[in-house]
Amino acid sequence: MTFIISLVIILFSVSWFIYAKSNFKTVFFTELFRGMLLTQKVAHRRKDTIQYPEEKLPRSNRFRGLLALRRYPNGEERCIGCKLCEVTCPALAITIETQPRDDGTRRTTRFDIDMFKCINCGLCEQACPVDSIVSTPEEHYVVTQRGQNIMTKDKLLALGEAIEPRLAHDRKLIHEGDG
Ligand code: SF4
Ligand code: SF4
Repeated sequence: MTFIISLVIILFSVSWFIYAKSNFKTVFFTELFRGMLLTQKVAHRRKDTIQYPEEKLPRSNRFRGLLALRRYPNGEERCIGCKLCEVTCPALAITIETQPRDDGTRRTTRFDIDMFKCINCGLCEQACPVDSIVSTPEEHYVVTQRGQNIMTKDKLLALGEAIEPRLAHDRKLIHEGDG
């Protein structure tokens, strides 16, 4: 009887050893312990998340947010109504109408950008020969009523005036190749 019990125990031990050898990770929970170690390691690292919008990440000078129109330091509109931006726009988002002024120069009487159509590609900015139309860092804009999607000339100029120092700084770096 003792012999039979010993034989059963030996057979059971050998079988368990063979099983444990081929299923090492399952039997000894190695994956579980590795996972717990990794969690401990990551839990005490510096956090990568930030408290947006109170905290913001640095932004490229070439960031393409809301569009704006710029003026020269003397207050004169930069735009000369050449319509290069209008023909360049792949989304047909820009509508420009022009008229000559009394002094013979040409200026826009209408400059609308449909923000629903605009894909912020920046091609209008690149086409402009006088740095008039520019992408701004402004990304917080929302439309709640019909028609607010149209950025009129007044709105575009107002935005440009509000952040002109930043725009001038960014354009300078971009033209110097540092932006
Ligand atoms: S950013 Fe692109 S899509 Fe938007 S108005 Fe300029 S050219 Fe058109
Ligand atoms: S914004 Fe620039 S490209 Fe567009 S019409 Fe005016 S001057 Fe020409």
